[in-house]
Amino acid sequence: MAFPEILQRVIKNLASLPGLGEKSATRLALYLLSRPPEEITELAHSLLEMRRKLRLCKRCFNLATEDFCTICLDPERDAELICVVEDPAALSAIERAGVYKGLYHVLHGVLSPRDGLGPKELHLPELLARVQQENIKEVVLALSPTVSGEATSAYIVQYLKEIPVKITRLACGIPMGMDVRYADQMTLKRAIEARQNL
Ligand SMILES: [Zn+2]
Repeated sequence: MAFPEILQRVIKNLASLPGLGEKSATRLALYLLSRPPEEITELAHSLLEMRRKLRLCKRCFNLATEDFCTICLDPERDAELICVVEDPAALSAIERAGVYKGLYHVLHGVLSPRDGLGPKELHLPELLARVQQENIKEVVLALSPTVSGEATSAYIVQYLKEIPVKITRLACGIPMGMDVRYADQMTLKRAIEARQNL
């Protein structure tokens, strides 16, 4: 490679990020090089600050700057409801929808023994403890309807089966704006099963 070593180092670091190959890492590095130094300083500082200050909420494992996250500390939230999500991005998506007012439990992954992700890594013992101790009326499973998401949901249902708590899951169906004729079999099957009275 004809690039100076300093630039090669940046490219190597960027290319180690998920979704960035060597080509896009090179493009990104050259773009950064063309920006004013203040912009790069701000980028570097924001990354450092994020890494230093953000931690996981002690109750729900959402991102937080203190011991507990803003959702857990919000007295307006319905504390009898826990929504189980895969990661903070899923939590944020549900928050943006603006209809859910309960609490969360963030797994930070789905079950994957191959990657060393078992019940303990997904904070399931803590979920069990919360359901037992916090007077929870309903656990809403909001994991993606993928093979591993489904397996994790099924596992959680088993995991909580001794506890008298209502367990629900998000309905799966036909996405808004989609033509029924082009929906795949599995989606249609789920949508028909979850049909509603009008
Ligand atoms: Zn929290």
